[in-house]
Amino acid sequence: FAEKPSPYAFHKLSSGENLIRLRSNENPYGPSPMARVAMNEHVNTSNRYNWDLYPELIDAIARKNNLTPGYILLGAGSTEVLDLTSRLAALNKGSFVMSLPTYPFWSATLENLGLKKISVPLTADKKNDLPAMLNAIQPDTQLVYLCNPNNPTGTICKHDELVHFIQEASKKAWVLVDEAYIDFTSEQSLSHLVSENKKLVIARTFSKIYGLAGARVGYAMANPDTIELLSRMQSWPNGGISVVSAAAALASLKDEAFVKQTYTLNQEARSFTIEQMELLHIPCIPSHTNFIYFSLVNHQQDFFAQLKQHNILGTDIYEKQGKWSRITVGTISEMQKLINAIDTAHA
Ligand code: PLP
Repeated sequence: FAEKPSPYAFHKLSSGENLIRLRSNENPYGPSPMARVAMNEHVNTSNRYNWDLYPELIDAIARKNNLTPGYILLGAGSTEVLDLTSRLAALNKGSFVMSLPTYPFWSATLENLGLKKISVPLTADKKNDLPAMLNAIQPDTQLVYLCNPNNPTGTICKHDELVHFIQEASKKAWVLVDEAYIDFTSEQSLSHLVSENKKLVIARTFSKIYGLAGARVGYAMANPDTIELLSRMQSWPNGGISVVSAAAALASLKDEAFVKQTYTLNQEARSFTIEQMELLHIPCIPSHTNFIYFSLVNHQQDFFAQLKQHNILGTDIYEKQGKWSRITVGTISEMQKLINAIDTAHA
């Protein structure tokens, strides 16, 4: 069995009231005020399955994405969508293609279902290398995973290049596009391709800009024929989403002010952090997300010891070559504390 990385184990080790959580790209401001009210209300109806709520949520998601409900499948976080697509792809054995580094917390499942991983390094500027990914596809490749914007690097690819990539890759395999962070950009989603392309699955989440990571709500956008195939891999209709969480997601879609506010605050805190880190000779990759990828090659101190000393939870080294790491963009005051922690002049 391929080893499953566990973010949970790490969080258990590092809990604490004053902990500054800059590890998992959560929204530091959420859930939205409207979602909180809806969650409270639905606690009282949690004795019922409440089937009506799910079609209502699917409807709202479809409208938001200019699709009809047949194009949407709910899941407990986008992770359930990644799992379902993995199960579907693994009906035939062979290989799958993904970037290195990219978001990895699902691919061990695919390996354990019997598919061999083919990793494709990013470009020098830390973007998904689309031509190299196309070249890496083998006759036995069943799935190609693309995270756009990419986690951990925060980079995006141009829309027309993505469209070409999907057209080509989907002639040979399932294409799974993870748009967990697209709401932090002004980029167009690839959802307009799903009506024509039956081999494309797009994963989206309420965990990031909507601030519902712990509520576990995500969804797939795909052609209705593909949605039907995915739903055959899912025992519980509409996924493992509680009534309380479904109500929160529905309310969040209506709370546009909250989403706008998060977007703006994230941009401000991100610009501030990148500026300050670069003053400290820590080069950063321009980010389109709520996290920043940076290199510690010039940093003379033990960065991770500095974080620990200031009760800040960051991540680890992703690429040994160049000592690349990632930090989540929290509130501006959290980011000021991060800068204070790593600025030796301040110590
Ligand atoms: N995809 C990406 C790129 C992520 O970064 C994450 C979480 O950090 C997920 C998917 C999973 O999120 P969730 O299952 O909470 O929707």
